[in-house]
Formats: sequence, C-alpha cells, structure tokens
Amino acid sequence: MEIGVTFCRWIDSYIFIVTAFNALTVKSKQPTPNPNGIVLDDEAAVQRFSTAITYQTISYEDRTKFDFDEFDKFITFLQESYPTVHEQLELEKINGYALVYKWTGSDSTKKPIGLASHYDVVPVLDGTEGNWEQGPFTGAIEDGIIWGRGTLDDKIGVIGILEALEKLLTEGYEPNRDMYFMFGFDEEIGGEEGAKAIAETLKARGVTFDFVLDEGGAIVENMVPGVEKPVGVVGISEKGSATVELTIEGSGGHSSQPKNHTNIGRIANAIAKLEDTQFKGDLRGPGEDLFEFVAPEMNVGMKYVFANKFIFEPIIENILLKQPASAALIRTTIAPTIFHAGEQSNVLPEKASAIINLRLMPGDSLDYVKNFIEETISDDDIKVTITGREASKVSSIDGWQFKAIQQAARNVNTEAVIAPYLMVAGSDAKHYDHVSDNTYRFLPVQITSEDLNRMHGTNEHVSIENYLNAIRFYIEIIKESNK
Ligand SMILES: [Zn+2]
Repeated sequence: MEIGVTFCRWIDSYIFIVTAFNALTVKSKQPTPNPNGIVLDDEAAVQRFSTAITYQTISYEDRTKFDFDEFDKFITFLQESYPTVHEQLELEKINGYALVYKWTGSDSTKKPIGLASHYDVVPVLDGTEGNWEQGPFTGAIEDGIIWGRGTLDDKIGVIGILEALEKLLTEGYEPNRDMYFMFGFDEEIGGEEGAKAIAETLKARGVTFDFVLDEGGAIVENMVPGVEKPVGVVGISEKGSATVELTIEGSGGHSSQPKNHTNIGRIANAIAKLEDTQFKGDLRGPGEDLFEFVAPEMNVGMKYVFANKFIFEPIIENILLKQPASAALIRTTIAPTIFHAGEQSNVLPEKASAIINLRLMPGDSLDYVKNFIEETISDDDIKVTITGREASKVSSIDGWQFKAIQQAARNVNTEAVIAPYLMVAGSDAKHYDHVSDNTYRFLPVQITSEDLNRMHGTNEHVSIENYLNAIRFYIEIIKESNK
C-alpha cells in the first residue's frame, strides 16, 4: 500500500517533469522574416485592380450562359495593362481562355515552378445586388477598400501575379528555372476546360513541376484558440468528395396495413445510424501537421497540451469534434442532402432512396467508405452505391518548397504563423496534382472568418494593404524559388 502510493507519487512527478520539459522545448517552425520593403507604384496598381473587377467574367453551371465578350475584353485589358509581360513571356491560350504564361529560366536542368489562379467569378445571386454596399462589378475604391466580385476569389491572384511579373521584368530580374503562370476561366464550375486542360496539355509535353501554388487557405485572424498571432494556412491536400446513394425497393402497399418497418423508415434508420456512429475523428496527416506548426506559438496552457499530444490526443480530438469546422479537419464527414420517397399520402412507396455527400480524409478510400457505410447500416436490403473522387495526395512540408512559401509569406506578413492544413473545399489545385510533385493552396491575404463568408456571398472586398501585400508575396515567392 505504502509502496503503491510512493510509486504513484513518483510516476506523477515523472510525468509532470517530462510533459513540462516537452512544452518548454517545443521549437518554433517559423523561419525568421526578412522584410525586403518592396516599393510599388501603389496608386497605379490599385487602379488596374479596380478596372479588372469591372469585367463580368462570370462562371455559370450552364456553360451556354458564359458571356465570352467579357472574357475577351478582360484578356485585352491584361495585354494593355501588362505590356512587358506580354512582350517578354510566351502566352498560350488553351480552349480559347485558359491562359498559360511561360517565363524561360537560365538553367534548363531545374524543374519548373507554377503559380496558378483563376479569373472567373461566381454570379451575384438574383435579388441580392441591392445588399451590396458598393456594386459587385464597380471596382469601387473607398476608405482603403477595393470592392467587388473577384477581389478575394480570385482575380487578386491573377492581377497580383501579373503586377509582380511586370515589376520584376522591368527591373531586369531573370529566373534560373522555368516559371509558368496559369490562369483558369472556369474554376468555379470545376475547372474542366481551364486548369484541367492546362494540366493535360503540359503533361502531354512532359512538363512536371517542383511545385504549383494555387489559391486556398489565407492568413486568418483568431483562427486557432490559444494563438494570438494570425495563422496563415497553406493547404497541402484537399479532401475527396463522394456521393453515396442508399436505395431500398419492394413491398409497397396500402397505408392502412403497414409493416412495422417501411421503406422510408429503413432508409431513415440507416441515416440515423450513420449520424450516430460517424467516421472516427483522428488527428493525423495534414490536420496533425497544422497543430505541430501552431503549438510552439501557443500560450503556455495550450502549448503544454499540444506538446504532450501522446497523453492528450483523445481530449484534443473531442474538443475538435465539437465544432463542425474543426471536426471536418479530422474526419470524413457525412451530409445527407437528398431524400426521395413517396408520392401519395395513402400509398406506401415501393422505393425509397437518399443521397449523402461525404468529404473524404486523405487515406479514406472510396472502397473503405462504402464498406464502412454498409457495415454501419447493416441492412442487406439497402443497396449502397458510391461515386466520387478520393482526397488529393498530400504534399511535402519537409522540403525547400514549403519553406519557400513560409519564408515569402513571413517576409511580407512578419507576424503571421505559416502552417500546413487540410483544405475541406475543392480548388483547381487538384488538377495540377497530375503534373506536380507538390501542390500548395494559399492566398496571401490577411482576413477574418467573416471575409471568408463574403467570398461567394455579398460585399466581397479586400483592403488596399492586403492587395499590395499579395503583389509583394508573389515577388517574394518567385525570388525564393529561384535561389
Ligand atoms: Zn477561387
């Protein structure tokens, strides 16, 4: 008994010493910023961006609704606004509107780098135009803010990159590796004719990239509890997306003599079981990487918890699973979206079906997901079919490529913590996975979570400071990649 108590005391203090040591020795994974104070012609750059917003380059699910006049005018505007780029870089148009600029480097033994973006924008929902403080296609500039569709998603990428190129070319800068700048025109409806076609064309020519950087995460304020600094998240993978259909058929009949379990009841029961069970949350892969990068920047309490993940992992996972946004980072999600059954109030339907949308973690294959669903619902009469795509591959965070992005971002936003993460939404980047060893997803602007909602909603805007910093970031990343 006595010995037991002493041993327990000893083991308690041992655990305390080890865990405290872990917390104290957590080292920052952030490179030291090296601000270069890049000077831009602010006013002219802002004016060009404002004009770029006025072209209604809108993507519609129904491709016949595209107004290609606007796209043509936008391309002409680019040619007139960035004369040096168009004089010195090769421009190729794929499917008429996907733009690929190539800057040839001095050393052909090095693998090229790609910077990607898109210039199509989502429509403004009918009836919401009046809710905008400034018209969505005015490019209005007021009180240090530029307004309109595309200011965040993602004309800022296209214009930011071209501004950076025009400046570097004018200054006589020469890259040592080939650089490609790739701008899609249908990202918002899947990128089939834009980014996908660009990737296929380059693949056929044998081009493979060291890395491609596309839009994705941003520098978000108050993103991670316990971290006071803004956190810039760079997507190193994006989740897969699958559609599952559950169907049951047979034995309809009159509603006056129902069986205890009808078709509707059985499908409903299957969904209830899936929602109760859920895929297991597991802090691994890009989700785990995020915390490894932010833990050293946390306040002491949180640092202690994350530094000792081997003890606290179940607690951390439970905390993350409480909020849908953080739960999505650590598990495959289940979202029932459509239910079909029945036509008449006094007839039992012969068939019932439901559609579930799932977002897949890297490592959870379509087969695995289908098996999990079949086992969970355990009803042999319900047919389960699955279609979709698995998560993208996970890009490296150990090589120079990720570090170059971190360095470039911190040279401009010196306070920001730059960390890898898992993107839960889709982007054009998945197409570039086929031609690139690494694909990163990052938009170099510092925003709030409110701004994120504005991206496809009302009042999309960006501060002038953010826009100018985006240009600076693209200059930095080109230089970092050519060291
Ligand atoms: Zn976008």
